[in-house]
Amino acid sequence: MNRTDRTVDVLIVGAGPAGLALAARLARAGAGRVEVLEREPDAGGMPRHLHHGGFGRPPLPWLRGPEYARGSVRAALAAGAALRTGVTATGWAGPLTQETTGPEGLERITARAVVLATGARERPRSARLVPGSRPQGVLTTGELLQSVHRHGLPVGRRAVVVGAEPVARHAVATLRRAGTDVVAMLTEQPRATAVPGIPLLTATTVGELRGRGRLTGVAIRHRDGRSGVLACDTVVFTGDWIPDHELARRGGVPLNPGTKGPGVDACFRTAQPGVFAVGNALHGIESAATAEAEGAAAAGPVLSHLAGAPWPPPGPRLEVRAPLVWVTPNRVTAVTGRPLLLRSGWPVTVPVVTVHQDGRPLWQRRVAGRVSPSRSLRLPPEWTAAVDPAGGPVVVGVGGFGRFGR
Ligand SMILES: Cc1cc2nc3c(=O)[nH]c(=O)nc-3n(C[C@H](O)[C@H](O)[C@H](O)COP(=O)(O)OP(=O)(O)OC[C@H]3O[C@@H](n4cnc5c(N)ncnc54)[C@H](O)[C@@H]3O)c2cc1C
Repeated sequence: MNRTDRTVDVLIVGAGPAGLALAARLARAGAGRVEVLEREPDAGGMPRHLHHGGFGRPPLPWLRGPEYARGSVRAALAAGAALRTGVTATGWAGPLTQETTGPEGLERITARAVVLATGARERPRSARLVPGSRPQGVLTTGELLQSVHRHGLPVGRRAVVVGAEPVARHAVATLRRAGTDVVAMLTEQPRATAVPGIPLLTATTVGELRGRGRLTGVAIRHRDGRSGVLACDTVVFTGDWIPDHELARRGGVPLNPGTKGPGVDACFRTAQPGVFAVGNALHGIESAATAEAEGAAAAGPVLSHLAGAPWPPPGPRLEVRAPLVWVTPNRVTAVTGRPLLLRSGWPVTVPVVTVHQDGRPLWQRRVAGRVSPSRSLRLPPEWTAAVDPAGGPVVVGVGGFGRFGR
């Protein structure tokens, strides 16, 4: 089939908070044709399906996801960006050329800068290697939200929620609104915050899904060896977010081994000249405010690239040591004022963060806040100025006086 060839100045893949914030900034700054592709029928990203308050930058308790999404779309259009919905970027036909499919047919779009703002998705049950039958009633949070808010479908009568992080609490609220009884929440973490009125099973995993046709129960196992079956017709697997990195992988864009999103420096530059990445595509789920802030902050580096600034060599890698599981950005090429984001595999309160390069201490500080599997820590960036650009990997760890959760 024939493809239409087109050129634009900036091509942004994904019209969520990150892509839209970047598009608005670039279009306002006169970056030429700034085009945003969105595979869904409407632009706005994940917040379109989130009917609770707490959106905006700063988050506002009364601002619900759909209104926030509409505001972001309006701002991008008013600035002069072109939003094209129902158009999916399917692969690369060159270092800065995307192949797309949409209502106007197949296209090949070449840009001076390509930005991956594709968001994150939850690993489905199949990827979590949960044994058992394949009955109906097994959902991720995303599928639950779409069923309830987009299609108005009934869910079930008794549900188990796997996970206890903030997104799990949204799943519980959505189930309750849909009239479903939540019989339990379970998490493999040793500690978690319970939702009033719902039993919380910690240090517990799903052993098996039971039922033919429709789910009839979930077999569970506690770390101490106890086991049992929770009778239910619905199970919602929450959390376990992974960047939507399919396009990055197809384009050979090197990934951050911790987040599995495209690896970037502090200016959102990937290792592939002209290709940037922003938002949850970089790190899995964070707030929309964080994604929006990253999109807005990427405008300066994209404009510099359009103006002919050289693409820097990769620079030293940033690595983490357990219990940390990832850091983003994960390469040091430039010093910016932006904080880095860190995640831990288990909760650490009042963490003491250490940074070394080639055995040389660069920084150590007790940082206010908490780092955990569901909450990132913001690391001040001032130490990045002390990194030797010709040196080895920079290693970030936590320890010292931190109180470890296990
Ligand atoms: C249950 C839940 C509750 C939440 N509550 C809050 C809250 O109260 N407050 C808050 O601030 N945040 C909240 N968030 C987080 C917030 O929704 C996300 O952080 C934010 O949407 C991330 O923005 P993004 O632009 O990076 O990605 P997304 O919003 O995911 O947008 C990415 C877009 O890219 C599109 N896309 C992907 N691949 C392609 C492709 N190949 N071609 C074309 N288009 C593509 C997708 O369709 C999507 O629309 C919540 C999230 C969840 C799941």
